[in-house]
Amino acid sequence: MRLGRARGTATRQTRYSQLHRDREAAPKLRTMFPVIEQLRFELSFEGGGAATPVPQSHVLHPPARAYFSFPCPYSDCDGRFELTAAVHAVVEDPSHRIEGVLECAGSRVSDFRSKPLCQLRLCFTLTAVCSPPH
Ligand SMILES: [Zn+2]
Repeated sequence: MRLGRARGTATRQTRYSQLHRDREAAPKLRTMFPVIEQLRFELSFEGGGAATPVPQSHVLHPPARAYFSFPCPYSDCDGRFELTAAVHAVVEDPSHRIEGVLECAGSRVSDFRSKPLCQLRLCFTLTAVCSPPH
């Protein structure tokens, strides 16, 4: 039992330093998407019962890192929401606004014996302000 708990803690630390390294290694937004002047993520969550995480919003500008992987807000979950495909889609979309739902594929490591799937749903609205085509 003690071994399992210790390993869970290490996994969580590894996860956060990995996330930090990935973000630092990502190219700048203006390098990857030169047309984007502002990118806004509105994130809300469903399916968490009484402990459903509060909504979040994130705004990225051209000097920010083009890193669109958001960790599941549950601190004991090892899941991530990958929004890279959504960013590509919002640039392509003429309205520069898309909505979608993603389900967390992580598991809740605090209950390491059963490791229940998280399945928290992320409802996102992504809007981009793009420079007009030249
Ligand atoms: Zn999760």
